[in-house]
Amino acid sequence: MRLDKLLANMGIGSRKEVKQLLKAKKVTLNDKVIKDGSVKVNPDSDKVCVDGDPVVYQEFIYLMLHKPTGVVSATTDAKDKTVIDLLSEQEKHFQPFPVGRLDKDTEGLLLITNDGDLAHRLTSPHKNVSKMYEAKVKGELPADVIHQFAEGVTLDDGYVTKAAKLKIISADEEMRTSVVQIEITEGKFHQVKRMFEAFHCKVTYLKRYRMGDLILDSQLPPGAYRPLTEEELAYCF
Ligand code: URA
Repeated sequence: MRLDKLLANMGIGSRKEVKQLLKAKKVTLNDKVIKDGSVKVNPDSDKVCVDGDPVVYQEFIYLMLHKPTGVVSATTDAKDKTVIDLLSEQEKHFQPFPVGRLDKDTEGLLLITNDGDLAHRLTSPHKNVSKMYEAKVKGELPADVIHQFAEGVTLDDGYVTKAAKLKIISADEEMRTSVVQIEITEGKFHQVKRMFEAFHCKVTYLKRYRMGDLILDSQLPPGAYRPLTEEELAYCF
């Protein structure tokens, strides 16, 4: 790989900025100053530094984002701020995208990566990756709602969902509101909201806090993100 390409891909700067860094003798390859960006480097064995700081090459990026409400799960959008807009310029260089989607008004765990294979594995309908949500629901849930969710719920378009696990955390009978935990293994459009709509109930708050074995870091406030740890990454493979 060319030295200038490696530096640009790692978010060190634009092609033009990288050229300037090389010209200013700020880049070393195996401790030797290099001014020619076309020099070939082996990202696995060569030591590249800028201003003495090592540049660690990585092809893929894996970030855990606590998606806030008000942003859309897309890479670009004509109207709304996207989850990618929350990242730094350096991370945007990797051309990351969200794995699956959360609605604009849903918050919680969202994995951001540029690893298409991993994204496919986690979202493939055949893999049955479970997703856990907490929801606030308005309306009266039937007494056998847990059983009905376990049997599969018929959505507005006639689709019958796979078995879902529902747990009622608390219920306020006077206000006709409940806080529930729901685990589903598929990702139909607005699935959780539509499952409750089937019982004439409205989801007023929705947060995803688990996807497979990946759990939302409770230290991450909405809008914050961090790289996955080695252990968390292993859960995704
Ligand atoms: N189900 C929904 O209805 N919305 C989401 O954002 C995720 C699951």
